[in-house]
Amino acid sequence: MTFADFGLAEPILRAVTEIGYREPTPIQAKAIPVVMEGRDVMGAAQTGTGKTAGFALPIIHSLMPLANASASPARHPVRALILAPTRELADQISVNFAAYAKYTPLRSTVVFGGVDMNPQTQALRRGVEILIATPGRLLDHVGQRTLNLSQVQILVLDEADRMLDMGFLPDIQRIINLLATQRQNLMFSATFSEEIRRLAKSFLHDPQLIEVARRYALADNVDQRVFRVATDEMKRAAVGHLVRERALDQVIVFTNTKLGASRLARQLQRDGLNADAIHGDKSQQDRLQTLDGFKEGRVKVLVATDVAARGLDIVELPAVINFDLPHSPEDYVHRIGRTGRAGASGQALSLMTERDARSLADIEKLTKNKLPVEDLVLAAPATADGARPRDRQTTGHRPADRPGDRGADRGADRGFDRDDRREPRSGGRGVRGPRAQKAPVDPLFLEPYQPADDPPPVPTADDPGIGPSLARGQQRPRKVAVLLGGKPPGAA
Ligand code: AMP
Repeated sequence: MTFADFGLAEPILRAVTEIGYREPTPIQAKAIPVVMEGRDVMGAAQTGTGKTAGFALPIIHSLMPLANASASPARHPVRALILAPTRELADQISVNFAAYAKYTPLRSTVVFGGVDMNPQTQALRRGVEILIATPGRLLDHVGQRTLNLSQVQILVLDEADRMLDMGFLPDIQRIINLLATQRQNLMFSATFSEEIRRLAKSFLHDPQLIEVARRYALADNVDQRVFRVATDEMKRAAVGHLVRERALDQVIVFTNTKLGASRLARQLQRDGLNADAIHGDKSQQDRLQTLDGFKEGRVKVLVATDVAARGLDIVELPAVINFDLPHSPEDYVHRIGRTGRAGASGQALSLMTERDARSLADIEKLTKNKLPVEDLVLAAPATADGARPRDRQTTGHRPADRPGDRGADRGADRGFDRDDRREPRSGGRGVRGPRAQKAPVDPLFLEPYQPADDPPPVPTADDPGIGPSLARGQQRPRKVAVLLGGKPPGAA
């Protein structure tokens, strides 16, 4: 089968050929004809399956008869609205639409929160047929009357499960009320909870269900392994070890918290790895810069939270590492979807300690797949006299071992990444929730993010850093990465 078999307009086929797509992916083969027919769709697709082109190409095709080269904004009303949960995903979809519609006069733009509204307002005033948006910022534009959605005839809710998880349901409902009543609705979700089904029922009309993979099935070209380490501290050394031992050119390391992401990136930098973090505490500018650095290969290890990583489209990523096993097993599926894309093989390496056994069991239950667990024994750091003490690296517990930390971390992370929001919401499962208790905070977590060239902090009597406590005047132990064969920062 080829793209020409769908009967897509010639300018679309030209763009697709130029991009290098040779044949439709399974979701495209199923979705494109149905969307071209004008039917509503409920799509269940794994990440990295080519879902974006699955809806974008037929949408562009449907809008082609309305495309015009007029300079008048009135001739370019918003006709297709694509809602996405995160800035990165919205940006990614927008880049794809622009590429697919390159040879048509159709205009598209993207609006998301966290950046200046003015350039977005100007683009909207000039008129666009295709608008990609995160819900909060879209409503901001509606509130400022720079946007009229009454002629939207195609609505896409992408990653609907994540939108509900982030508390966007009330916004979505408000947005739907602003659209033309006669319209085509497409909803895509990786998971199908009761909540998602209810939402689907409320706004999809006689939808065609399109499913390309068994629910929660994982791509079989991904080699999944779990490494058990003794303590949380050992996980940091394990990341460096896996990256070096397996000669991973590029890897995304997932943490469950934003603070954990910053901290890990900083520590990996000190261990001589080219690492950076992406999460909701960083400015939009910083996030996009970090992403560009990763895509261009300047950043080798990208440490990311789940929410920040959504929508990252990095083809042929050789590996992902789960520094923390995710609290929700669905997130495991999303994370793993980052590797093994577009047919390439990938590695999904997870780190666990004994207390992650429950999360592992949940993942195995959801994916119906038993994961091989192997013990990863790493050398403990030596003291100045060369002894290997029973220390925090091998036997200790860091503050996160205290009960309640998991919930607090999760709530904090999800909550902060909802930075597209304009006002507090009460409906978001991610923010409130029984597990979002207040937990003791390691003061290091409160420090601002430090770039790679910062000198390592000087240990004090109060904060001896990772490793055994040091007596005043005693030398700090050597870095674990050095023991594992890595280079210290600045080494030739
Ligand atoms: P998506 O699931 O939409 O994020 O797409 C994942 C990746 O697959 C993106 O890099 C797309 O550019 C790429 N892709 C989409 N469709 C095709 C295709 N038919 N052939 C090859 N690559 C594709």
